[in-house]
Amino acid sequence: MMPRYHLQPEAKGLGMTSQRARDRMVERLRGEGGIRDERVLTAMRTVPRHVFIDEALASRAYEDTALPIGNGQTISQPWVVARMTEALIEHGLPARVLEVGTGSGYQASVLATLGLETYSVERIEELLRIARRRFRHQGLNVRTRHDDGRAGWPEYAPFGGIIVTAGAAAIEPGLLAQLDEGGTLVAPVGSATGQRLLRIRRLDGQFVQDDLGAVVFVPLLPGTL
Ligand code: SAH
Repeated sequence: MMPRYHLQPEAKGLGMTSQRARDRMVERLRGEGGIRDERVLTAMRTVPRHVFIDEALASRAYEDTALPIGNGQTISQPWVVARMTEALIEHGLPARVLEVGTGSGYQASVLATLGLETYSVERIEELLRIARRRFRHQGLNVRTRHDDGRAGWPEYAPFGGIIVTAGAAAIEPGLLAQLDEGGTLVAPVGSATGQRLLRIRRLDGQFVQDDLGAVVFVPLLPGTL
């Protein structure tokens, strides 16, 4: 069978996009990163992160850094993806998760690789088109929608997990309304001067919040492009 991807020869030659590069990334996440959840580490060892980045930058895919993905957007750094995913599933694997901000498709692929039924909404059509192609090539079943994700995805609500990958001044009430009882929402919240990663759980009809630390995300914006 023909290989599905033709990597840049130089990146391939240097092993920048190899399984070894991915294994090293995972060891850093476990070591300095303090990521403990083996399910998350295994998923991130499996998903080929370089496939979600433009070829010109693929050799940097396994550095712990955010990278541009076009349209002024970025793929989150591996540690942030790991930490958000870990926080999302810490209190149990949700059956169905919603991501707001598909971007490159990497975070959604990690969720789908964990075996979660994954729904992802993106406001920029061009990014979504590219992400969909990647899901198809990876054989991943991620359901996507081109829309303003602040409204969630009412047809499939409620969700056991919701992950927002762009920052707003506050959590969207419409998203909280789509969070199932016992469910977990993870989102960056704050202003230009500082964002915090918040986790909100819906327990007995109450929303319980904890602060997971400082983060930097691109803004959650209204409307579609
Ligand atoms: N999860 C992505 C991160 C992408 S950056 C990844 O793994 O690559 C955040 C993304 O959120 C951008 O693609 C941006 O276009 C998108 N976004 C911002 N506001 C949005 C909104 N209201 N609805 C849906 N997507 C939004």
